[in-house]
Amino acid sequence: MEKRRRIIKFDLAAKTLSLVGCRVIRNEPLSNHCSLNIGGAAEFFIEIPNERSLVFFLNSVLADNYLVLGEGTNVLFPDEGYRGTVIRFTGIFKSISISKNEILSGGGALLSNVLKIALKSNLPGLEFVTGIPGTVGGAVYGNVGNRDEWISTVVKTVEIYKNLKKECLSKDKLNFSYRKSNLENCLITKVNFSLENETKTANLQKIFKNIQKRLETQPSNTPSAGSIFKNPDGYSAGKLIEEIGLKGKRIGNAKIDEIHGNFIVNTGGASSKDVIALIHLIKKNVAEKFNINLETEVKIINDRN
Ligand SMILES: Cc1cc2nc3c(=O)[nH]c(=O)nc-3n(C[C@H](O)[C@H](O)[C@H](O)COP(=O)(O)OP(=O)(O)OC[C@H]3O[C@@H](n4cnc5c(N)ncnc54)[C@H](O)[C@@H]3O)c2cc1C
Repeated sequence: MEKRRRIIKFDLAAKTLSLVGCRVIRNEPLSNHCSLNIGGAAEFFIEIPNERSLVFFLNSVLADNYLVLGEGTNVLFPDEGYRGTVIRFTGIFKSISISKNEILSGGGALLSNVLKIALKSNLPGLEFVTGIPGTVGGAVYGNVGNRDEWISTVVKTVEIYKNLKKECLSKDKLNFSYRKSNLENCLITKVNFSLENETKTANLQKIFKNIQKRLETQPSNTPSAGSIFKNPDGYSAGKLIEEIGLKGKRIGNAKIDEIHGNFIVNTGGASSKDVIALIHLIKKNVAEKFNINLETEVKIINDRN
């Protein structure tokens, strides 16, 4: 009886959300929505096109247990799937506008599109994000960048939803560190980037160099989630993995990349368990040899709860 009541409640919420413009899909394979191509089904997968439908969603029973997903380029989903709702921003949340040296972007916009608009308008300051896949929401949440440059340096304000409340956070309320922000448990709906003075110009040379470096040092065309581990202070995780001789090591259909030791690639049909087994193997060997505790950069989403 309890199970039946739950089904009816969830059906009703799904129908209402469809009526306010959301795309609601049941049992959607998460492997279709992440760059590693791994993961079982989400009970509900909902695309949210505007703020009105977001508020409807947040007030519905489908928001009891949910996760916001961008392009899925920094996540590892469990093989068993996600018992709850996975949401993704579409529509208005993908819009980007420009005013003088500021770019206002929806949380669901692609970071590469923000870079394109900055370059078209000859605004410098974002060249370092060349080749980083994913959305603006995912990028700001994880403070993406390279060793020397992070996205937080160009973020002016962030609009979020937290506990049903909308807030606009200015710089003094934002806290960023290496691949981390204080935006846990928030929905990033808008980001205002403040780029460098209009008198400077975008550095195309830097863009070409970034593309070339990625082509030379990272696997292309093989599903991955980028760097699996954060670089420990003063070390390169990739180099440590190379030194313990694990490059090329396979478990099931997951493999430590031969070019970049900090990438685990899906050679075809890999499971989440294969990737996790490689993660444990690397951590164990690096700890034993170097007494260093590697911390994962990829977000490992919990099993069904
Ligand atoms: C080939 C490759 C190269 C990469 N190179 C780099 C690199 O050079 N530097 C780097 O830093 N990263 C790199 N990455 C990692 C990845 O691209 C970034 O972490 C990216 O910003 C993730 O964005 P996403 O939209 O895919 O987020 P997802 O993977 O979908 O989500 C990641 C996390 O962000 C949260 N999130 C997503 N959207 C929102 C939102 N709107 N509001 C709140 N939280 C949100 C999710 O809940 C999740 O916890 C690389 C990945 C790949 C596959």
